[in-house]
Amino acid sequence: MTLVVLLGAPGAGKGTQAAVLQDRLGIPHIATGDLFRAAIREATPVGLEARSYMDAGQLVPDGVTIRMLEERLGRPDAAAGAILDGFPRTAVQAASLDSFLAGRGSRIDAALLIDVPPDALVERLSGRWICQFAGHVYHVDMNRSRVAGICDLDGSPLVQRADDQPETIRARLVSQLDDLQAVVDHYRATGALRTINGLRPIRDVSAGLLEALGVEPVRTA
Ligand SMILES: [Zn+2]
Repeated sequence: MTLVVLLGAPGAGKGTQAAVLQDRLGIPHIATGDLFRAAIREATPVGLEARSYMDAGQLVPDGVTIRMLEERLGRPDAAAGAILDGFPRTAVQAASLDSFLAGRGSRIDAALLIDVPPDALVERLSGRWICQFAGHVYHVDMNRSRVAGICDLDGSPLVQRADDQPETIRARLVSQLDDLQAVVDHYRATGALRTINGLRPIRDVSAGLLEALGVEPVRTA
């Protein structure tokens, strides 16, 4: 069983890389957000419990999240392992996860950090512009409008929402990066941490992640 934790700040490209790893390693990508939504939709006992906290406006206790994870890891498609994404999010959660896994004679084999400096994250995350008329979405890197500042579809001006402005994003990132750093420090201490430069092209980041796991980046027929 190979248990991998994928770490990275918002904007680091975790979602893209998780899909590549899932495909190449043949183990499921388990994003905590999806896990919650599925457990609640399927009304599993632990899903109902999580929901009672959420309905009360409270944080779901780590123990509940770990039980949800336990249920998920027990399914056949995760027999060979899984890629965890979104949990652990704090050092306390990382320690709880370690003790839970130790109880099953297991452990996190690798914590892969897609490392992108804060300035580059702000730049990536603040690239979103929407058109004033209908909210069509553009991005300076991924999806530019043909004429700068003008919507391709209706010609209305592109504006940036307050949430997408660099100062707002930077402020939001600060606390997220603190938590991430604590988790990174945890896995550095356990020896599971592998750091991959996330500024390189997507394909190189994928290759770096696979290399860190000792897997050949390209499938050989
Ligand atoms: Zn538009």
